[in-house]
Amino acid sequence: MAQTGRKLLIGLVGAGIQQSLSPAMHEEEARRQGLRLHYQLIDLDRTCASAADLPMLLGAARLMDFAGLNITFPCKQAVVPLLDELSESAAEMGAVNTVVIRGGRLIGENTDGWGWAWGFRRALPHADLACPVLVGAGGAGSAIAWSVVRMGASRLRIVDQDLRRAQTLAAALRQKAEVPVETFADVADALEGATGLIHATPTGMAKMPGSAVPAALLRPPLWVAEVVYFPLETELIRTARQQGCTTLDGGTMAVGQAIKAFALFTGQEADPVRMESHFRGLCRATHGAGPRGS
Ligand code: NAD
Repeated sequence: MAQTGRKLLIGLVGAGIQQSLSPAMHEEEARRQGLRLHYQLIDLDRTCASAADLPMLLGAARLMDFAGLNITFPCKQAVVPLLDELSESAAEMGAVNTVVIRGGRLIGENTDGWGWAWGFRRALPHADLACPVLVGAGGAGSAIAWSVVRMGASRLRIVDQDLRRAQTLAAALRQKAEVPVETFADVADALEGATGLIHATPTGMAKMPGSAVPAALLRPPLWVAEVVYFPLETELIRTARQQGCTTLDGGTMAVGQAIKAFALFTGQEADPVRMESHFRGLCRATHGAGPRGS
């Protein structure tokens, strides 16, 4: 399709982001829609910069007429006080992964939770939300926690090796959501009688192999949702599937957050099937084949 109109400039601000698939996802979807879009990696590691440089980076993006920025580790919380406006979900989570620049104003959004919910509903539409367990109360886990509570979970159990992180997240959730939220130091205790498991720690990444959840705890009817997507086939996903659990890999959340961000940046809806199939092709090229939901 012929590309027309103003060229949209988008960026990703974060550290160690050279392997990010966001530029490819956004540029390809824009190309398929006939939009001109350039997605620039702004890698703090490459320029010896840090989250302390965010005011300058945001100012530069505004001056250079960027349409928006994605924000990732370690800037998702640090960027919040620098913005003109926050969406309801970003304010609730206290974290921003997308900044839309409109009329010179910096508007903070968080598409991580939306992206998780989008993937979860598609892949596991009948999942029992009576008692999900979330392992990992960091950036990804916090976004998912808000999402799963808003999706109608009857209660939520949160596990983190740093119990204070679990307790802080639980306290924030209890203030705004009217569901019981408990914290656990031990995943086996948390999974007693649970209906589902959401894994949101970095364990299982290519650079951090292994599983945060012992295989013996993975038994149907427990469903298992993973956030790690490098690789798509983590040890947790493989084991859970072998044990007969229904599973969801981390790829759908990665695509979901990009779908929502694309719409915010361009004003046009992304084609979800096309974007996901492109993303999975890119993952296969780097890490071999992997599942989505089963
Ligand atoms: P983070 O460092 O902010 O949080 C991780 C949390 O897990 C920490 O609180 C840590 O204490 C806890 N933890 C670590 N090991 C644990 C264990 N064995 N048991 C219990 N708790 C443990 O990290 P993050 O930004 O939330 O990212 C987590 C993972 O999610 C990364 O692999 C990241 O790439 C991935 N991620 C995926 C998506 C996606 O779209 N699929 C989006 C964001 C992050």
